[in-house]
Amino acid sequence: MREKLVVGNWKMHGNRDQVNRLVEEIIAGAAETESKVEIGICPTYIHLEQAAKLLIAANIGISLGAQNVCFAEQGAFTGEVAAAMLAELGVTFVIVGHSERREIFGETNELIAAKFKVVQAHNMVPILCIGESLEQREQGATEQVVISQLDAVIGDVGLPSLHDAVIAYEPIWAIGTGKTATPEQAQEVHWTIRDHLARQDAAVAAAVRILYGGSVKSSNARELFNQADIDGGLVGGASLEAEEFLSICKSAD
Ligand code: PEP
Repeated sequence: MREKLVVGNWKMHGNRDQVNRLVEEIIAGAAETESKVEIGICPTYIHLEQAAKLLIAANIGISLGAQNVCFAEQGAFTGEVAAAMLAELGVTFVIVGHSERREIFGETNELIAAKFKVVQAHNMVPILCIGESLEQREQGATEQVVISQLDAVIGDVGLPSLHDAVIAYEPIWAIGTGKTATPEQAQEVHWTIRDHLARQDAAVAAAVRILYGGSVKSSNARELFNQADIDGGLVGGASLEAEEFLSICKSAD
């Protein structure tokens, strides 16, 4: 049985005080509930260390995640952060291939595969984001797009690596737009992804958690998370408010 996972992607938001407050509120709220859901939070690089200190002190199993990583181990890569540096801070999850990185920063499948590899080399868990644009959906190309994004990474890292990874299906048209895929639309793509993996390796397909991301909120989370192949969520905007985020997490129980 796959454990449900809800991860908050805080993107480029917050200052030191706000981050401390948000982490403390999430810890307090999560401590009150006896939830079986695994929770992760991904603050900016600059706020990882302070969040790590609070999470370690609380010791209630909330995981720390990073939003990005450099593909290389170390060296002359101005402005970048290495996987070893994240691992040293106690990071568990690293988001790779978010559509904002693909679209705004021009990240290619090849680069994303290299990031996936370096994250696993440091015993962290990549959260590999895949998803189609509105235009691609309207052209009926959703399946082809997500499978080709997935296969591009599998071709490089090998299918068994997916066993210890998380996939996030994030339709680009639903990210930060308030438009959510219907539970049926999301389930259809999640099933397609899992079926594609199952044809190659049933154990990997059964183990890998596939999160849905795209305007998840407390009002739509339960229905999404109830779908057979949706194992939780990657949550952007709604993860910046503790009560709302905790309510989303509870929906995965
Ligand atoms: C995201 O950034 O991964 C995301 C899903 O954002 P939002 O929940 O705001 O749509």
